[in-house]
Parts: sequence; structure tokens; C-alpha cells
Amino acid sequence: MADRSTIPARALIDGQMVGAAATFDVVAPATGEVIASLPDCGPAELDRAVEAARRAQPVWAGDEEARRTALRRLADLIEAHEKELAEIVAVETGHPAMAGGFEARGAAHHVRWVADAEVPTYELPDASGARTVAEHVPVGVAAAIVPWNAPLVMAAHKLAAAVRVGNTIVLKPSPFTPLATLRLGELVAEALPAGVVNILPGGDELGRAITSHPGIDLISFTGSVETGKAIMAAAAPTLKRVTLELGGNDAAIVLDDADPDVVAEPLFRSAFMLSGQVCQAIKRLYVHRSKYDAVVERLAAIASAVVVGAPFEPDVAVGPLTTAAQRDRVEELVEDARAHGGQIRAGGHRLDRPGCFYAPTIVTGLSDSDRLVAEEQFGPALPVLVYDDLEDAITRANGTPYGLSASVWTSDPARGEEVGRRLVGGSVWINKHAGVDPGIPFGGMRQSGIGRESGLAGLLGFTELRTVTVPAAESTTESVA
Ligand code: NAD
Repeated sequence: MADRSTIPARALIDGQMVGAAATFDVVAPATGEVIASLPDCGPAELDRAVEAARRAQPVWAGDEEARRTALRRLADLIEAHEKELAEIVAVETGHPAMAGGFEARGAAHHVRWVADAEVPTYELPDASGARTVAEHVPVGVAAAIVPWNAPLVMAAHKLAAAVRVGNTIVLKPSPFTPLATLRLGELVAEALPAGVVNILPGGDELGRAITSHPGIDLISFTGSVETGKAIMAAAAPTLKRVTLELGGNDAAIVLDDADPDVVAEPLFRSAFMLSGQVCQAIKRLYVHRSKYDAVVERLAAIASAVVVGAPFEPDVAVGPLTTAAQRDRVEELVEDARAHGGQIRAGGHRLDRPGCFYAPTIVTGLSDSDRLVAEEQFGPALPVLVYDDLEDAITRANGTPYGLSASVWTSDPARGEEVGRRLVGGSVWINKHAGVDPGIPFGGMRQSGIGRESGLAGLLGFTELRTVTVPAAESTTESVA
């Protein structure tokens, strides 16, 4: 369990860890106990952070080698503090301890990949003989707004990409899970110059102030579709650039040739990792009728047997929901399913203990219009639906306003690939679902987002393209006539 003395209680502004006039409490989802009281940053702290970021940006943008070196140092520091960061993530999210470790290692790996990445510059042909160079230049001051489900890794993704290409940044973690990000802020203060990264804890009001602040040039947001739309509207008056990584309603299709004994366990993991609180988790499962009963039976058996508990309890595979509101939402959707004739094959109830626990739940007998199927549940309740005709399954899988990701499960990967190419989603997998690699871009189609994170595409999302044209050696001016 994380030592309370290592949990930070300060914002990072201009290289200093500082407080604010107001505070808010952070609650551990596994126990309901208050574990920290943090500065509730407002317009005054935001102005100071933006001013520091603007001041630091030109010098930071001017030295690429210094940027690489500083980010490598940050990756080293994250690795050196991996255990402590992992424990803080586990305590604040409620995720199993192992998931905290995964985040801390993932954050270091990602920062290092970004430090080493190359951002290309191109020479473009020009009929006049002039030389035109296209180069990716920083946008200026970026803002990052982060949700609560994977706080450390998402903060690390955004800040590393933004600063690697020469921006400075103001980052706001979720008010539910700001602690590991602030500990990361202390490490940032050791590795990067003052003002390059500023981290402000605060609520939705601070988010709104960020999105309308005239000193911010770009917003990189991860969170719900609703908030994404509000942010895009708030960014419009000053035409801030926006990258939106939003929610989804990921479908997985199990083909008629899949072996239920092989696919059941990875299907379960892909739907219930982090208690289903993953943007790229299976949210709807379509199974061919010939395999339907066998898959449902195996999923229900796993859901009933899996160990649900607090982060540091032995053998825990599924933790609590991270917020009480999210637990209430999952409960509401399951009750709606029950009321509409859904059969609860496992779970379907809260756990009788403190904290935001809800039993892993498998529901059958629903139609695509029932809320548990049509809406993003973002929690441990999976609807399993039957299909007879593959064309029908593809149409139903694609029949939502979202397009984050999707998967196909089969004993014939080539056939899976063929089906996968017909699914709407920024990421499509065969025989797996979800996975983050620093070099592989991810993001959503349709209402699941705009732009991409990770990979070269993720870095370029934090840049503007500038072309510079120099006349051919024999002429010093070019006629415009
Ligand atoms: P949320 O949209 O409620 O909040 C996300 C962040 O936005 C928080 O920091 C919050 O304080 C801030 N915020 C809220 N209202 C704001 C406003 N009007 N202006 C500016 N900022 C505002 O999302 P959440 O509940 O924290 O996270 C869950 C959602 O995030 C799910 O829908 C999930 O699918 C999505 N998500 C998407 C991805 C992805 O990469 N596509 C990854 C993780 C989570």
C-alpha cells in the first residue's frame, strides 16, 4: 500500500510545487476514505501557469537535443520511482496493483520512445527550381485534459508528445485521480526546465477555464463524448487546435469457427480489464448462434469465479469502479436491462462491502436498442448478443455513432482480417482487443474523436506544418507576374 507521505499535495507551476486558496478531497474508491486534500486550482493559478508556459516556450523550442535529453531523464526517473507511482495509481483508481505497475512501466516506456522518435522534415519538388522545405513546428502552449481511468499513462502520453516537438504544456488531471500525475509533476520538476510542464489539479470548472483561455493554442482532450463536444465549441472562438480521444461502444464479433475454450478467457479480460473502465474495452459482444451457448456459459463461469477486491488484496483481478457515480451508472444500466427482459447470467449486484464495487456481470437476451447495448457502460457489465448471419453482425457492430475500436475472434486470422477491414474503428484487432504501443497511433472515427495519439501521428498532432521556399541559386527573387 502506498505510503501516504509520498502522495503529493501541490500543483506544479513554473517549476515550483505550490498550493492554492481552495482545496478538494480525493477519495480511495476501494474504501471510501479521503486520502488527500489538494489545491483546487482556479483562474489565478491558470493565468500563472499559462504565463510561465508562454515564457518558457521559445527557448524550449529552440533546442531539440535538450528536449530529447530531458525526456530521457524523465523516463529514467519514472523507472526509478516505478513502485511508488504504481501504488499511487492503484490507490486512487482502485485498479488491481498489477495494473498500477503496468501504467508506471507504460509511462516510462512511452516517454523514452517519444524522446527517441524522429520528426521528419521534407523537401518538396518545385517546378520553378526553388527549394521548398516542409517542417513540423510547435503550436505554442498546449493544454491537456485527462480522465480518471488510466491517469498516469495518459498524462505521460500527452505531456511527452507535446513537449518533444517544442511546445510547453498546462495539464489538468481528473479531480478523481490526480495523485500519481502530481507525483509525476515532482519528477518533471527535476528533469525539465521551469514552465515547460505545468500541472494543475482542479475540477470541471478549471477545465472550462482552460478551454477558453486566450493564451492556449491547442487542447488535447481525453474523456467523454459529451465533454469533447463542449470543448470543441469552447475552442471555436479562438480556433484552438483540438485533439479529442473520446468514448466508444466497441463491438467484438465471434465468428462461427472460433473455439469457445480458446476465446472465452481473453474475451473476458478484454471486457473486464480495469473493471471495464477502458475506452478500448469490449462493450458489446456478438457471437454466432452455433457458439453462443458455449461462449456465454464460459464467460458466466469466469465472471462468477474471478476475484473481485481492493488493489492489494491477494489474487485480485477486478477492482471497484473508480467513482461512485460510475458504479451507479452501471447499476442503472443493468437494472434497465433486467426490466427489459435481459437475463443476468452472472453478477448483477453491488458487493456488500465499503467502496464502489459491482460484481462482474454477463447479460443475455437484449436487443441492440436496449440501453446496456446502445450506450457506453464503461463498467463491468457485458451484453452478449446472438447473430445468425455475418453480414447482419457487421451491420449491427457498425450501427452506432461511435468508431473507437473493434475486434474479430476466429480460428482463421486471414478470415478475421477480411471481416475486420469492414468494421468502423480507429483500431481493429483479430483475436485480441485493446493494447497501447507508443509507436502505434490510436484514436476514434465518427463521434469517438478527432486526431490520433501515439506514434508519429500523435506527435504531429501537436505541430503545425510550415513550408519555407528558397529561390533557386541563380535567382534571388521570383516574379509574381
Ligand atoms: P469526462 O469527460 O467527464 O472528464 C474528463 C476530463 O474533462 C476531466 O479532467 C474533467 O474535469 C474535464 N472536464 C469535464 N467537463 C469539462 C468541460 N466542460 N470543459 C473542459 N474540461 C472538462 O470523462 P471521464 O468521466 O473522466 O472519463 C470517462 C470517459 O472518457 C469515457 O467516456 C471514456 O470512454 C473516455 N475515454 C476515452 C479514451 C480514448 O482514448 N478515446 C481514453 C480513456 C477514456
